[in-house]
Amino acid sequence: MADAETERDAVLDALDNVAARLADEKSYLTDLDSAIGDADHGANMQRGFGKAAEKRDEFEELDPNEVVQNVGKTLISNVGGAAGPLYGGSIMFASQELEDGITADTSVAFAETYLDKVKDRGGAEVGSKTMVDALVPAVHTYKKSIEQDDLPPLSALAKAVDAAERGVAFTVPLKALKGRASFLDWRSVGHQDPGATSTLFILEALLATAETYLDGAVERDAHAADAARRDE
Ligand code: ADP
Ligand code: MG
Repeated sequence: MADAETERDAVLDALDNVAARLADEKSYLTDLDSAIGDADHGANMQRGFGKAAEKRDEFEELDPNEVVQNVGKTLISNVGGAAGPLYGGSIMFASQELEDGITADTSVAFAETYLDKVKDRGGAEVGSKTMVDALVPAVHTYKKSIEQDDLPPLSALAKAVDAAERGVAFTVPLKALKGRASFLDWRSVGHQDPGATSTLFILEALLATAETYLDGAVERDAHAADAARRDE
């Protein structure tokens, strides 16, 4: 991306944006989790990312990958529930992929390692009605857009967000196979998964951050086209 200082600023701004978005969506995520869980997902996510964002001053001294690692650590100790270790542990583990900086290639590696860790820890696959249903299409789309279609990272991320959005919609008709929602068996059908939804919000906040750091008319145009299509 750029020098380590700019990369760290980008990561810190991403953290602020994610924390702000999850705070805005707290009651929506809680509503989703009250339908098929225990109504704590909004509070869990807001508390975890809020605590991490409060540490911004401490994080100013660190390398970008260390900031990401410490965000993960903070989530593990503050999120609770199933989502805490899944989000926190996987972010922490995947941060090693950013040791040499943030580039198109290392961001793909980060995304893939993060996804592998979530699947490994939680045992969910596509169709289990979890965050994995948003993550798998997002990560695969991001990787393909960069490695095969040769798109710039910003366009790739915009496409990944679209893919995650479709993944969230895909969770609605599914019966939950993992986590608390699985206790409901067929009664979980017809409800949108909270963790898939928070994953989408995080990706949207990352895209908004990336837009301020990665410029280029082509990239912005590509995203504008995607955004327009979403509004149709
Ligand atoms: P809890 O279910 O412990 O109350 P949260 O409400 O914070 O935790 O998070 C619920 C979300 O966690 C679900 O909507 C789902 O997306 C995700 N989740 C639960 N179990 C798993 C799992 N085994 N693998 C992946 N994601 C999971
Ligand atoms: Mg819950």
